[in-house]
Amino acid sequence: MTIIGKRVLLVEDEAGLVLTLTDRLKNEGYRVTHAGDGAQGERLAKEGKFDVILLDVMLPQKSGFDVIRDLRQQGITTPTLMLTARGQVNEKVVGLKLGADDYLTKPFEMLELLARIESLLRRPAYAAAPVATPESYEFGDFVLNFKTMEVTKNRKALELSAREFQLLRYFVEHRGVALSRETILNNVWGYDSMPATRTIDTHVTWLRQKLEDNPKFPKYILTVHGFGYKFVA
Ligand code: CA
Repeated sequence: MTIIGKRVLLVEDEAGLVLTLTDRLKNEGYRVTHAGDGAQGERLAKEGKFDVILLDVMLPQKSGFDVIRDLRQQGITTPTLMLTARGQVNEKVVGLKLGADDYLTKPFEMLELLARIESLLRRPAYAAAPVATPESYEFGDFVLNFKTMEVTKNRKALELSAREFQLLRYFVEHRGVALSRETILNNVWGYDSMPATRTIDTHVTWLRQKLEDNPKFPKYILTVHGFGYKFVA
């Protein structure tokens, strides 16, 4: 397999690593484009001109997790290798669940990285998973209507604030995935507002009071200790 001219998007903010990787990849024959933060990385990736994306997790502007999730939701299927911090098993699992194809733990051997990239390039391009945009979602006795922003329990309307609805919708759209408080904050509250992470806990408490039979022993919105929350239904 020839790798000459294959295009790599490197999304990484550690200057030293960027330099080393760029040098080595270019020597191997790759064409390398670099993005120093998540937002820029996502913009470039959306242009869709890359054969492989190397994506760091901890990035300025937008985390690698958020980038890969948003890319996949928009049907961008470029093979992506996540560069995770050492020993954070959670990161591997989360990254793969969100649509990354492979991961490599820092610090890594350059030969290992090159082998992983080649293996991703050998994979047949896979079809974009259809992005489901249903109008409603049902779980337990509940129905969420995404269009009208209404939630019913046994067909009776529940009183949810706009923010509570957004939070619940975010949970539903990412069900089964452990979501960090930071990720929830950035996606539900936005980057510009800077509420304390406690704000999330408060809203989760309110949502649990409205959704859970026993808010002290929730079955839908679970706590992931030291991390955030996970919605299961
Ligand atoms: Ca980083």
